[in-house]
Amino acid sequence: MADLQVKLTAPNGRTYIQPTGLFINNEWVPSSDGKKIASINPTNESEIISVHAASQADVDRAVTAARQALNNPSWRDLPASDRGKLLYRLADLAEENRLTLATIETWDNGKPFTVARDEDLTEVIETLRYYAGWADKVFGQVIDTTPDKFAYTLREPVGVCGQIIPWNYPLSMAAWKLGPALACGNTVVLKPAEQTPLSILYFANLIAKAGFPPGVVNIVNGYGRIAGAALASHQDVDKIAFTGSTATAKDIMKMAATNLKNITLETGGKSPLIVFNDADLDLAAEWAHIGIMSNQGQICTATSRILVQDNVYDKFLEKFKAQVKNISKVGDPFEESTFQGPQVTKAQYDRIMSYVDIGKSEGAKLVLGGKKPASSGKGFFIEPTVFTDVSSKMRIYQEEVFGPFVVLTRFSKEEDAIRMANDTTYGLGSALFTTDLVRAHRVARRIEAGMVWINSSNDSDWRIPFGGVKGSGIGRELGEEGLKAYSQVKSVHVNMKAKL
Ligand code: NAD
Repeated sequence: MADLQVKLTAPNGRTYIQPTGLFINNEWVPSSDGKKIASINPTNESEIISVHAASQADVDRAVTAARQALNNPSWRDLPASDRGKLLYRLADLAEENRLTLATIETWDNGKPFTVARDEDLTEVIETLRYYAGWADKVFGQVIDTTPDKFAYTLREPVGVCGQIIPWNYPLSMAAWKLGPALACGNTVVLKPAEQTPLSILYFANLIAKAGFPPGVVNIVNGYGRIAGAALASHQDVDKIAFTGSTATAKDIMKMAATNLKNITLETGGKSPLIVFNDADLDLAAEWAHIGIMSNQGQICTATSRILVQDNVYDKFLEKFKAQVKNISKVGDPFEESTFQGPQVTKAQYDRIMSYVDIGKSEGAKLVLGGKKPASSGKGFFIEPTVFTDVSSKMRIYQEEVFGPFVVLTRFSKEEDAIRMANDTTYGLGSALFTTDLVRAHRVARRIEAGMVWINSSNDSDWRIPFGGVKGSGIGRELGEEGLKAYSQVKSVHVNMKAKL
């Protein structure tokens, strides 16, 4: 159908073919009820294009395709090394198309083009390669029991996996989930976020081109409450992997309970960054800035609470403010010098602005930002925002804002820092700065979080497990650990006795 692949020219002049349909069985199909999602350019608030939005019937169709592919010998019996080769080919195609994919990501999401090109796409390509290498290294064990029994385990795919992803890293989040799922031999129905539906559709054509059999990966854009819910509650889906808000994760868990689905959840955070008085303060200020202000602050592991030891607080604050003022150039994401583009949507913009009002009304001190940059007309731009004089009771200390919005507070003793860092319902990332080796490792053990960065922040890597504790999720993605989320163990008992 003509409107399912449309020629577009992006603001940077790049022309490409944008698919707009649902990707099922390696083909483009329209939504069954004609519903669409308008994709908005957050830089100027204009519509880029509308894409098809999946209905429950469309999700059904995608799940059927994934189930058939799971049982089809072309996938089920494909040697593991060949699954790896397909993933390598997909990574190569992503690399060949790096500039187009980065262009679409920037246009649709608002993140700086340099970041999309150099960071997000690198992560996509390398994550796929990393899991390509794992494909033929996922195997069971022989377990020694008695001479009368030969026992071994098989590591098998979980089955049909529903993957629901957010808008902050549209392609990277897809790669984090597709890489291990495909390496382990599963089939997938992936639902992107309705705010950023475009780049993954272009990527879908690469999946077909790489040679994955029809139905192994199906991509259905759609609204959370319709397509997302249909996937999470579907009786023929074996697993749900979700990244997004904690509130939605709770709903998904309930829906997944209907047929006791295997589940992985990556949710929100309010990650602390602790600066001890023996820290290298320049280094701490640089990383603290990266940890909250990159990706427009739309990072689940953003170190959005900075805790600084009393006697270096003023010095650190000055250095941090200088860093924010000098580096956070807000503007057109296609300009090479831009550090911060617009927030992804009007809803996110309004949410952050509402937290500026909350912070002020709670009595915290706004020392930077908190408003739209004077020079910007249209677009969801926000100046990087810094609050001080914040106490742990305040909502701006406790609640995830998900923007370029950070709060600073002080502590006097190590024990206070640990208590304050853990005083949250979340437990995703954390960072600490000190030159005392013993203290660094002592405190790292005490922080209630899935990840601790010592003398850095948000320095993640596809080879290292990623995930949270408490309200920040269940399970781990990335690294070898990420394979466990997509494989299950079958035990085989062989009776070696001739007679009972
Ligand atoms: P969200 O949790 O509503 O959406 C994430 C994904 O879940 C999207 O694909 C969405 O369509 C889907 N979804 C929404 N409701 C659903 C439902 N009932 N059933 C099934 N799927 C559903 O997140 P959001 O509205 O885009 O953002 C709200 C907040 O979530 C943000 O302000 C931020 O705090 C948090 N967030 C966190 C991350 C992260 O990486 N941890 C990413 C994006 C947003």
